[in-house]
Amino acid sequence: MKALKMKMIVFLMVAAITTLGFAQDTALPNVKILATGGTIAGSASSATSGSYSAGQVGIKTMINAVPGIKEIADVSGEQIANVGSQDMSVDIWLKLANRINELLSSDKVDGIVITHGTDTQEETAYFLNLVVKSDKPVVTTGSMRSSTSISAEGPLNLYNAVAIAADPQSKGKGVMVSLNDQIHAARDVSKMNTTNVNSFQSPIKGMLGGVFYGRLGFFREPNTKFGNTSEFSVEGIKELPRVDILYAYADMSPDLIDMHVKAGAKGIVIAGVGNGNMTEATLNAAKKAYEDHGVIIVRSTRAATGWTLRDNEFKDDDYHTVVSGDLNPAKARVLLMLALTKEKSLAELQDVFYEY
Ligand code: ASP
Repeated sequence: MKALKMKMIVFLMVAAITTLGFAQDTALPNVKILATGGTIAGSASSATSGSYSAGQVGIKTMINAVPGIKEIADVSGEQIANVGSQDMSVDIWLKLANRINELLSSDKVDGIVITHGTDTQEETAYFLNLVVKSDKPVVTTGSMRSSTSISAEGPLNLYNAVAIAADPQSKGKGVMVSLNDQIHAARDVSKMNTTNVNSFQSPIKGMLGGVFYGRLGFFREPNTKFGNTSEFSVEGIKELPRVDILYAYADMSPDLIDMHVKAGAKGIVIAGVGNGNMTEATLNAAKKAYEDHGVIIVRSTRAATGWTLRDNEFKDDDYHTVVSGDLNPAKARVLLMLALTKEKSLAELQDVFYEY
């Protein structure tokens, strides 16, 4: 009788532990969606019109438009901004980065999704990649078609982004950008087409992974510094040094460099022709901008893909120039703004472009 009682107690204990464990396993991951606007929150007067206004719909409406989203994660939304991403600003970046760091430091948040316009999404994602101090997943998403458009792809993109943010295998991958069933590393992705839903591509390194109705897998690891290994942070930062981008072309005039210096630029990224080239007169103006004003000149390229390499057609040391490697001009600008928050020699700045 006593043995039977004992058996009953053990059985009940095992049942209780199993139930408890089961309850823990089925608790949904907690994903916060931070909304900033864009076409994904845009609306038009007609489902077949290409004209629309970005940043019209609030985060609650967006979440409610995604069937099944509450079955894959415990989602809640917060409106950080509601702008077309052509109006994205350093102020919003700082607000976003500080809020993400605050949320991810809590045990109650497992991952973050950011809804964002597609025009400057790669810049915001790369900025966050450098300053978010957590291994938890952070995913940006958006859409090329407005929320009222025929075949709007925003709801599926948002569903997939939440699935990525909720999945433990997404940890430690840096900030990711997901649209059109693809997962890209923030550092490597570019908007490559003005209207197509397959606009986002990583032309040099390829996708990080793929996602299909919430099922996902990764093909490779990011291979530059980010997150906890990044030396950059937004702590105590209220603004960033001004860095401008100058587009190079045949017969480019050197006085453009002087205009940017006069306007207060601390750095200039040249979207150079080919391998980061510019007219000889512009190169001499760039050299003078560094010598007379300490303005840092970074050579990137206006070509859609490829590296800019040191000492390719002249010695970079002779002109005090830094090369961006495979960072496009917009991202080279983001990195230079953060790098200029620290005291660095030209050689150290060059290393930053190799490492990040
Ligand atoms: N101009 C829009 C934006 O970047 C375009 C889009 O989201 O697709 O906000």
